[in-house]
Amino acid sequence: MSSTLTLVVKTNRCPQNHPCPAVRVCPVDALRQIGYGAPTVDMDKCIACGKCVRFCPTRALVLE
Ligand code: SF4
Repeated sequence: MSSTLTLVVKTNRCPQNHPCPAVRVCPVDALRQIGYGAPTVDMDKCIACGKCVRFCPTRALVLE
């Protein structure tokens, strides 16, 4: 069941005005941020571990 979860970036919840704290905690380097934009996910790398979800203060990163 959990293996079917996918990381989704809720860009409307991201203020896009700061360095994303979640990018550096990803164990497989799947998150990228250009400038202060909302991060993007490399779905080929993401293992849906959920670590980044806990580091986003506005809950813009969601496993669903
Ligand atoms: S769910 Fe885990 S592997 Fe996927 S982007 Fe977040 S920290 Fe990285």
